Amino acid sequence: MIVFRGIRARACAVIVLIFLMSGCSGGRAATADFFAMDTIMNITAYGKDAEAAVRDAERLINHFDALWSVGKPESEISRINNGDTPALNTATDDILRQAELLREMTDGAFDERVFTLVDAWGFYSGDYRVPGGDEIAALLTSKDKIDLGGIAKGYASDKAAELLRSEGVKSAIINLGGNVYALGSRPGGAAWRVAVRDPFDGAKYIGSLELRDLAAVTSGGYERYFEENGVRYHHIMDPRTGYPADSGLASVTVVSENGTLADGLSTGLFVLGKERAVELWRENKGLFELVLVENDGTVTITDGLKNSFSSDAPASVAGAGVIGVFKDGELLHAVDLDAVSEPYDFVAGDDNIVRIAPGEAFMLSAGCRDQICVRHAGLRSGGSYGLAGPVVCLPNKVVIKYIDELPS
Ligand code: ADP
Ligand code: MG
Repeated sequence: MIVFRGIRARACAVIVLIFLMSGCSGGRAATADFFAMDTIMNITAYGKDAEAAVRDAERLINHFDALWSVGKPESEISRINNGDTPALNTATDDILRQAELLREMTDGAFDERVFTLVDAWGFYSGDYRVPGGDEIAALLTSKDKIDLGGIAKGYASDKAAELLRSEGVKSAIINLGGNVYALGSRPGGAAWRVAVRDPFDGAKYIGSLELRDLAAVTSGGYERYFEENGVRYHHIMDPRTGYPADSGLASVTVVSENGTLADGLSTGLFVLGKERAVELWRENKGLFELVLVENDGTVTITDGLKNSFSSDAPASVAGAGVIGVFKDGELLHAVDLDAVSEPYDFVAGDDNIVRIAPGEAFMLSAGCRDQICVRHAGLRSGGSYGLAGPVVCLPNKVVIKYIDELPS
């Protein structure tokens, strides 16, 4: 992981913007600008098939909007929320299933059943209010109404990209209110360049990403919020507390081949905070990458973006291979696996021997018969193998896991 520091704290709005480089050549461009899902959308595609494909993609997204909008009483989601049991469109079935998977993946930090909560805070009507403690407590138990706002644009970007491809488009940029999908390369072959907004200053960005056939989605508390008595309340709820998420993150950008996942995770990881976000990244190596901005301005990117994220800010590097050996929750030993030149054994209490080798660490011995008490896995710089996640010896309470950086 690379850590950038020194982004100043200030306030403002909006998300990711795209550098549509001037002077693009290599085919006709077709563009659709429209308003759907409560946001401004732009699709720009290149090549001879672009014009028709872009219109079809716009139509598809409007169709999704009509199915899922909580502001339209006839939408399938509104009908479900009003106690009806309509026959569901296959796309509705599909997105609901994906929402459920994301809910499980984020331990409920992403939860599409937040409608009643978001409603109580006034984010649909614009009549913003801070619900009282008793009301919040009651709201936490009412999870029967759905709001797909945390995932719909990402899902729509996936399906729009699929449609463009099926109609012969090889180069396009889809921007659904900051949920970006970069299809293929720019005309001419260079990667698409997408700027990641500075969550503290709407006029600035913290860096840019080079993308090919990848989605980039940002969630931040600066996008939609109100203030009361000097306190800012934003639109991403922590379903566990009933209050706007307050995890120490100012924004989360998720990069993935899967735009639905990127959208749901950007919302969910914003709720979970940096530590758990990085942990989930390690447990799901290759599935997504992250740009995290903390409230103090610290910017952290995951290893996989090393070559595609650029920034002017000074950078210091924390390797992806820094691990810690813990016993009873206490850090006994920390090491950067990339800096190990000779294998050695670290004894974590009498029975636990941890073998630490160049680029690798695992539990050599756990002191119990058959070692069945051990969750077998190894940690490598760049990702775990065997079972994902930390290595755990339960009886002795020894854990080997990735940590962000060596303690100073
Ligand atoms: P945006 O839609 O503003 O780009 P997000 O993708 O983060 O940002 O989605 C935020 C929207 O998702 C909120 O406006 C609300 O409709 C809904 N939402 C709020 N909190 C959650 C949550 N914890 N899980 C899922 N959806 C949420
Ligand atoms: Mg989202």
